[in-house]
Amino acid sequence: MEKSALGKKSSGVVLKEITKIFQQPDTGKDFVAVDHINLNIQDGEMVTLLGPSGCGKTTTLRMISGFEYPTSGSVFIGERDVAKIPPNKRGISMVFQSYALFPHLNIWENVAYGLKVAKVSQDEVVRRTNAVMELMQLTGMERRFPNQLSGGQQQRVALARAVVIEPSVLLFDEPLSNLDAKLRESMRDELRALQKRLGITSLYVTHDQSEAMAISDRVVIMKDGVICQQGTPTEIYEQPNSRFVANFIGKANFIDGTFRGMDGENALVEVGGHTFPIPAPGKMEGVQKDGPCCLAVRPESILLSEEEGPLSGRVSRATYYGAKVEYEVMLGDQPIIVEVYNPQLSKRFAEGEAVHMTLIDRCVRVLA
Ligand code: ATP
Repeated sequence: MEKSALGKKSSGVVLKEITKIFQQPDTGKDFVAVDHINLNIQDGEMVTLLGPSGCGKTTTLRMISGFEYPTSGSVFIGERDVAKIPPNKRGISMVFQSYALFPHLNIWENVAYGLKVAKVSQDEVVRRTNAVMELMQLTGMERRFPNQLSGGQQQRVALARAVVIEPSVLLFDEPLSNLDAKLRESMRDELRALQKRLGITSLYVTHDQSEAMAISDRVVIMKDGVICQQGTPTEIYEQPNSRFVANFIGKANFIDGTFRGMDGENALVEVGGHTFPIPAPGKMEGVQKDGPCCLAVRPESILLSEEEGPLSGRVSRATYYGAKVEYEVMLGDQPIIVEVYNPQLSKRFAEGEAVHMTLIDRCVRVLA
C-alpha cells in the first residue's frame, strides 16, 4: 500500500471472475450484464472503463462500490474481500455526473458533510474541509449554495466532497458528461492532475474515448459485458487487437486484402495487386494464409501524393478543419479517410482529383 498525498493509504482493487446477471423485468429472462471479468487496479493507478452504452461499465463500478452485488465472483479492495462490507465501510468515494450536491447546504457544509457523518472531531472537520477547499480552489465560495455555482464549480465541489474523507479508492461515473466541451477538457486535466497529486486509486467510467485517453494510466475496453482489450492509451491506440477496438478508439480504415504469409517479421498482405510488407502486424488472430484479412490504418498514417504511391484513388471529399484537412479517397468502391495535418505545408487536393496513397507501414495492423 502507498500513502496518498492526503495522508491516507490508497488500495488496489482486484476483480475476480465477477459476473452480474439481471432478470429482465419485462421478459423475466436472465441477462448477463457483466460476464466473468478479471481486473487488477494497482495502488494509485487511474483506470478507465470505456465502451458503448449498455456494455456493463456502470454495473462493474457499482459492484465495487457495493451498490450492486455480483451474481458470482469476488471484489477485493486492498487485501479485503468486500462481499459482506456495506458501501459506506468500503473506503470508497463516488463522483457522479449529476454532482449529487445537497441544495440546502452551502458549499462548505457540502464538503464537510462526509466528515460529520464519520463523526470526526469538529476541529478536524474544520481543518480538513478548509484544506480540501483550498486544494480544489474553492476558497471564497464557502457560503454560496450549489445553485449559485457554475457546472464546473459544482463538479469541483463534488470532487472536494469525495476526497475530503480520504478514500482508498475513488470511483467516477461519467463525472464530466454535463459540462460543455471546453470546460470538460479543462476539468478532465484538473481531475487528472489532482488524482496524480493525491495518488488515490481511481476507476473512471466513460463512453468518451478522448477523455479516457487523456486521463488514464490504463484503458479497459468493454463490449457486451466482457473486456475486449486493456492497455495504456498508447497500446490501445497503436496496437488495437480487433476492428471493434480500432474503431472505438479514434478512427480507422479497414482496407481489404489477402494474407500471403510471413517474410521474417513482416506480414505480407496483398491489396489490389500490390504486396505490402507490414513490419509490426500485431497478433493477427484468426488470419490464415491466403485468406482474407484487413489492414487497419489510422487516417493520419496515410500519405497522399500526386505522383507516386502503391494505392491509387480519387478524392471524393475534402474538408478543411484548420489544423488538418480530412480527405475521403475512393479506393475502388471503398472510401478511405486520410487526415493531413499542417495543411499549409502540403499540397491541397481538390474533390475529383486522382491521388496516390502510401501507408506508413509501421502504423498498420493486420486484423481478421
Ligand atoms: P451507459 O454508458 O449507457 O451507462 P453501461 O455500460 O454503464 O451503459 P450498465 O448500466 O452497466 O451499462 O448496464 C449494462 C446492461 O445491464 C444494460 O443492458 C442494462 O440495461 C442492464 N441493466 C443494468 N441495470 C439493470 C437492472 N437493475 N435490471 C435489469 N437490467 C439492468
